[in-house]
Amino acid sequence: MMTELGIDIPVSTRLALKTRAHGVELSTHLQEHIIGRLRRSYADVFSMDRPERLWGPPVISAESMRRTGYGRSFPQLLGTVHTDLEERELPGERTGDLAGPESAAGTQELMLVASACHHVYPLFQGKEITKAASVMVEGRCFRNDSPNETGRLRSFRQFEVVHVAAPPQCAHWREDSLTRVEKWLSDLGIQVSKEVANDPFFGRGSSLMRSVQRKQLLKWEFRADLGDGVKAIGSSNYHKNHFSEAFEFRGPSGAELHTACIGFGLERLVLALVHAHGGNLDSWPEAAGGGSGPTYAGAE
Ligand SMILES: [Zn+2]
Repeated sequence: MMTELGIDIPVSTRLALKTRAHGVELSTHLQEHIIGRLRRSYADVFSMDRPERLWGPPVISAESMRRTGYGRSFPQLLGTVHTDLEERELPGERTGDLAGPESAAGTQELMLVASACHHVYPLFQGKEITKAASVMVEGRCFRNDSPNETGRLRSFRQFEVVHVAAPPQCAHWREDSLTRVEKWLSDLGIQVSKEVANDPFFGRGSSLMRSVQRKQLLKWEFRADLGDGVKAIGSSNYHKNHFSEAFEFRGPSGAELHTACIGFGLERLVLALVHAHGGNLDSWPEAAGGGSGPTYAGAE
């Protein structure tokens, strides 16, 4: 198969081209065609929530991430725009210096986004939220995962839907969104298992946080066969008041709000589709890019 640039790409690698950096790949027109269709179909799944739709950049304010304590919980995944950190923790996080310390290179202002939903919570900072809100966000993410795990991308795309509401309504949306997503994946022909999971918390107190997360069913993972093993393709997370406390947003009369998110790795979804339906797009569901394949001469 020839690309627009005239590069002959073997069938086995026609979704993406590897680069010299592990876990960093270039996407082909074929993969973008499939992702374009997926984008339309997941937007349909959540249209009843009337979400605001946003596309996030690959970087985020380090101050926002300090507020959430991300660097304390997941230092092993951190990617900062400055790469001269002496400690693998966001400077200022431990001391509560949210603006970050001055360094020779200036304030450490930006870091790479680990989850697309992290763009959303700061938007509500300090606000009174008078009715439930849904935000759909797609963004490029980075996690400094181990180079030893083959096939794991460090730079990847996620789409997520975030819901903000009073605790009972948020819990209800969480359950309802799980049901809707299970049907969506089934319609796409992807066989998934839904499993209780935990985030890869790091350091002191991490085993307690993992077990609380599991016992309270705060994280579900959707796992599917990607051809080289069964892996998580998405997850549903219930944060309780973690983000509403961090960004100080509340309901009417100061009522507590909860947040939940559900999200998928787009490149992993494509791999699950390839495993489920094979290399010939003609036999794929239309919602996943089946039927008319991409034309290499120009736009679809
Ligand atoms: Zn999320």
